[in-house]
Amino acid sequence: MFLQHLLSRARHCIRLTPRLTPASYWRSSTQHFSLCDRGHSTGGGGQVTKDKHQIRSCLQSSTVKISGAIKLPASSIVQVEWRDGETDVYPYVWLRDHCQCPNCFHPTTKSRILSLEDFQLSISPTSIQVVEDGRRVEIGWSDGHLGSYPASWLHQRAFNTHQLNLRAETIRMKQKLWGCELSEDLPRVSFPELLENDWALLAFLQQLEVMGLVLISQTPAQTKQCHLLSQRVAYCSRTYYGETFKVHNKTDPNNLAYTQYSLGLHTDLPCLSYKPGVQLLHCISQIEGDGGDNLFVDSFQAAAIFRSLHPDRFNLLVKTPVVFSDTGVEDGQKFHIANQTSVICLDEAGNIATVNMNNICRDFINLAPADVFGWYEALYVFSNILNHPQNVISYKLKPGDIIVLDNMRVLHGRKGFNSTSGERLLEGCYWDWDMVRSRRRVLQANLVTP
Ligand SMILES: [Zn+2]
Repeated sequence: MFLQHLLSRARHCIRLTPRLTPASYWRSSTQHFSLCDRGHSTGGGGQVTKDKHQIRSCLQSSTVKISGAIKLPASSIVQVEWRDGETDVYPYVWLRDHCQCPNCFHPTTKSRILSLEDFQLSISPTSIQVVEDGRRVEIGWSDGHLGSYPASWLHQRAFNTHQLNLRAETIRMKQKLWGCELSEDLPRVSFPELLENDWALLAFLQQLEVMGLVLISQTPAQTKQCHLLSQRVAYCSRTYYGETFKVHNKTDPNNLAYTQYSLGLHTDLPCLSYKPGVQLLHCISQIEGDGGDNLFVDSFQAAAIFRSLHPDRFNLLVKTPVVFSDTGVEDGQKFHIANQTSVICLDEAGNIATVNMNNICRDFINLAPADVFGWYEALYVFSNILNHPQNVISYKLKPGDIIVLDNMRVLHGRKGFNSTSGERLLEGCYWDWDMVRSRRRVLQANLVTP
């Protein structure tokens, strides 16, 4: 009986998926995403996960109703029972802190008014009442306040595994690492679709977050197209090279990118403490013949390989502070940019957060002279893994292409070229990940949530 119940829930999930999925906008066959299809069922076959928490919460939070709510005093927890018989639990202190009444939570600014100074840790409910046909619960508190909690709001914020995972995925989508095989299946989208269609835009932003690399085609081969696309996504993040920049063979260049030399695999501008999150490179003209191809590597995949094969060397690149610096003149203004970080940065959970490989602006290493050789050895080994053919994608941008990459993760490089075989002109700009993810969340809320 219980198994039938789970399967019926899972079928509910699978029915929802096609309506929610923006995957039809992709020519590639890479996986698609929606708020309900990750981790619940596989495409086509409908293989069902046995995780009760994952199956149960496929119910839309906006339509749930509460059948009852009781105190569990021994654990200072309120247990809410939903109409379908499932339950969730909420600690007293958390509920009091998150009261949704207009005296505690401002309804239009969506901000907490209640201050911690007025907060009692020993708070407990004196009454609990389900009202409005199960759409809201009212809790009388021992401080005399009457708290109010919409059912849909509570359901979205439940402490169960599925809701925790959904919220984590809303904050930051899980990345899918890749090697050279991605060149057969590079995520692609057309520029006109991105400008006109919100589903296409959402799919593009999701792919950018998950894969870290998307190719946009059919862009007019003229300047200011990055600006046009930015108006749909996020403002261009200005750096000391300007709001947008043109990459071509300049006379008297202030950056090696503005020459015909090859560029090794790198992330842009680790000399900035706020390194750009996303880079766009729009190809306006390309040289004929050999050279000028772009190279791309998923540095997180390479770093994971490096970590498993050479853990001590990996740790050396994590722990050693390196100064990245850049000096020059742009628009008549001298600049001297410098930032101290490490080649591989981890987050608080020990996951790789970013890779700072940049031969152009790598400067000083803060090490005792006797330790320098070992650090170079580690960098050399990591560089070999990054440049291994199994990890590198080569793609020569055509006029009308925009390559968009996650600059925290995907390294890019360029083969040298002969500037006498035509003009190679790219226009680039950067976006902040905060703004890109904001746009993705807003689109998800508008398009996916009923
Ligand atoms: Zn309140």
